[in-house]
Amino acid sequence: MGVWVEFELCNGCRRCLKVCPYEAVAIKDDKAVILEHCTVCGACIEVCRQEAIKSDVAERRIPDFSDYRGVWVLAEARGGELDPVTLELLGAAQLLAQDLGQEVGVILPGKNIAEPAPLLARFGAVKICLIEDDLLEPYRVETYAEVVAGVVTEYKPEILLVGATSRGRELAPRLARRLKAGLTADCTALTIDPDEKILLQTRPAFGGNIMATIASRYSRPQMATVRPGVMQPCECDGNRAEIINVSVNISESPVLAASKVLEIVRQARRQVRLSEAKVIVAGGRGTGGATGFKLIEKLAAEFGGEVAGTRIAVEEGWVPVERQVGQTGQSVRPELYIACGISGAVQHRAGMQNSRYIIAINKDPGAPIFAVADWGIVGDLHQIIPEMITQINS
Ligand SMILES: Cc1cc2nc3c(=O)[nH]c(=O)nc-3n(C[C@H](O)[C@H](O)[C@H](O)COP(=O)(O)OP(=O)(O)OC[C@H]3O[C@@H](n4cnc5c(N)ncnc54)[C@H](O)[C@@H]3O)c2cc1C
Repeated sequence: MGVWVEFELCNGCRRCLKVCPYEAVAIKDDKAVILEHCTVCGACIEVCRQEAIKSDVAERRIPDFSDYRGVWVLAEARGGELDPVTLELLGAAQLLAQDLGQEVGVILPGKNIAEPAPLLARFGAVKICLIEDDLLEPYRVETYAEVVAGVVTEYKPEILLVGATSRGRELAPRLARRLKAGLTADCTALTIDPDEKILLQTRPAFGGNIMATIASRYSRPQMATVRPGVMQPCECDGNRAEIINVSVNISESPVLAASKVLEIVRQARRQVRLSEAKVIVAGGRGTGGATGFKLIEKLAAEFGGEVAGTRIAVEEGWVPVERQVGQTGQSVRPELYIACGISGAVQHRAGMQNSRYIIAINKDPGAPIFAVADWGIVGDLHQIIPEMITQINS
């Protein structure tokens, strides 16, 4: 039956009407009526002082998660070398663990992985689960999902953070499915709710026009992926961590044999790690084209920095896609970000607004980029950049 109104108790106060997020309450003859598209969210029941709104749907209860503890990071390593996102996630995990009064843990699957363990401890890990097996090299998502899910099921972390790298993006949803847990992708902020002590996961939604904060109340672990460059690593005093060598029993079962790596072909191109650059000079539509981008390159060279661009600049073919900054590109946090001919759309700002210092050059004084800039230069970049280069060299 769902939700209904006991008319003799209803005084037509309209509180239910105001709180219903689905506009599924109407007032008829001064009494509330529940409409067909009610989702039984219960908001109206909570505000009804007359206790006139009833429901026969069992209240959804939060299961007992008291045996889940710890803020854990799924580490990523290639050839024994840690991906920088792992240390960034550890920085976030330390803050969350502090708020919860819990410990930071790490799961590191792979081959030859003992070497990075001391580094993980230096950056906050107190418990390190090493899963070493020949079948974990080369990387295959099926194998990793299987073994990591096994460790999470055994050790029950309350929170599991995964890097939103190409590996993390394919691995995290598979893990969430196996663990029957909620997952929030591409988070830009993570905090602990002071009352409920649950993870609040913030990410851009609806094309970046709003920031949505999501909580996974009914499942554990609370899982989130975070883009490289968003969080900050934090070295700590603790040099000792409990190392647990997890033995796994993986074999070439039909599920694991779903894919086979026949050959690894490495692309001979310079790897762009914008997230590690100290100085980034970025160009947008205002550069006017590839020739305008030469100026961006010259300015970047003056600082020994990297060149980046907006999505428009990428779509126009002025800069390669791996250099796009923003919501659908990379998140960066350099010491200095110089935005040239960039309007500062929310989707672009999402990827660069955490830079230490931002200089914006734009001929429109009302451009939104100036709202996040430490220094704003209003003018034509074709005049300003050559002048900047002259000043630097004088
Ligand atoms: C789902 C979604 C995801 C997106 N993801 C991204 C993303 O990851 N990264 C991203 O960048 N965008 C992204 N976008 C696109 C974003 O909304 C903007 O369209 C884009 O960032 C605008 O790029 P721009 O600043 O180069 O161009 P414009 O918005 O056209 O701005 C050009 C600026 O240059 C200035 N200008 C013009 N000539 C000069 C000159 N001679 N000298 C100085 N200034 C000048 C203008 O005043 C203007 O402010 C996304 C959009 C959507 C819907």
